[in-house]
Order: sequence, then C-alpha cells, then structure tokens
Amino acid sequence: MVIKKRCQKIIELLQTAYTNVKCALEFKNTFELLIAVILSAQSTDKQVNIITKRLFKKYKTPEDFAKLTYEKLASEIKGCGLHNNKSKAIINTCRILIEKFGGNVPRDRKLLEELPGVGRKTAGVILAIGFNKPVLPVDTHVHRVSKRLGIASGKNPLKTEEELMRCIPKELWKDAHLLFIQHGREICTARSPKCSACVVESLCAKSGLS
Ligand code: SF4
Repeated sequence: MVIKKRCQKIIELLQTAYTNVKCALEFKNTFELLIAVILSAQSTDKQVNIITKRLFKKYKTPEDFAKLTYEKLASEIKGCGLHNNKSKAIINTCRILIEKFGGNVPRDRKLLEELPGVGRKTAGVILAIGFNKPVLPVDTHVHRVSKRLGIASGKNPLKTEEELMRCIPKELWKDAHLLFIQHGREICTARSPKCSACVVESLCAKSGLS
C-alpha cells in the first residue's frame, strides 16, 4: 500500500478507536495554553493540570505573571520539574507579550519561537490547538508512534514532522497530532507497546509490514 493511503487508513482507524480526542492540558484561553505548554516540558500533562488549576486562579493575565519575581513563580510551579528555568521563561515571555504584542499571544510561528521557553513543538501546539491552524506538532509520542508504524524514518522530530506532512492531508494534521499522542499513551507505549490490542497493527511496520 502506498504510504499516503496507509497514513489515511491509519488515521481513519485511530479516529474510530479514539473519538473526541483533545489536548490533555486544561486551559481557558490561548494565553493559559501557552503557559501550560511551557510548564509541560519534561513533565506530565496530569501534573501540569494540578499546578495550573491553582496557578490560573491567582494569575490570569501576562501582567499578573510579569509582576512576579522569579523566585515567587518558581515556588508556585514547583512539582513540574525545571521550575526555576520555567519561571524565568514564563515571566520573560509575559514581559515580551506585553511589550511587543499588546498582551496577546502571537499567531505566527516565527514570533512564537522567539519567546523564551517556546521551541518548535510548543509553537506548533499553540498554533494547532490554540489557533486551530493546520500544523502537525511532533512530540515524543508522535515521533515514536510514526517511527514504529514505518511512516517516518525517525531521525529526529523535525524530520518526522516533514515526513508526516508529506503523507497526511493538511486538514488532518491537527487530528493526526492528537490521535498519535492518544495512541502513544494508551497502546503504543514507550516501553511495551500493546500490539495485540492495536487497531492499526495490520498497517504497522513493527508488525512485519514493509
Ligand atoms: S502494532 Fe504495536 S508498534 Fe505498531 S503502532 Fe500498534 S502498538 Fe505500536
């Protein structure tokens, strides 16, 4: 089966298996999503949600965060790992949002990637989830699942992103991102993939398809 057709079939099967997939981070607006995604680096969405639940009750705007000291915010976000670095990144990002963007989150990848704590994947998540743009962010789950399925060579996340965008129709990029994450969390887990329970097993390179 040609790769484009195989990708399409894989996505169809995953859509049947996982209905109503959505971003696991909890947020009420794009600004909160940005903060949550910065906090999620090397942490779990579950842990981030615990932290942001109380954090966003106290601090709601870039101005609220920009007024904090690095130490104060670090103590508020302790528990999500790298809290000192993330505190600096969040406060400096909020200062830039206020100074350059009128307190708004920019909708442009280049501008997003200039913010402290925002790399390619984070910017992609903001664009796809926050602004509903056709983007296919590649995190560790998307990277691993695509590589195992044999629809990406797995050299690095950027290469995987390029390969997936070539074989998946643009209108499915965001869905593919969410579906592969869900599949990576539930079935195609890092340590022991549950291949016998996998809906795309017959289409997977790992299971012998070449
Ligand atoms: S068959 Fe196994 S390796 Fe392939 S996608 Fe499914 S769980 Fe992952």
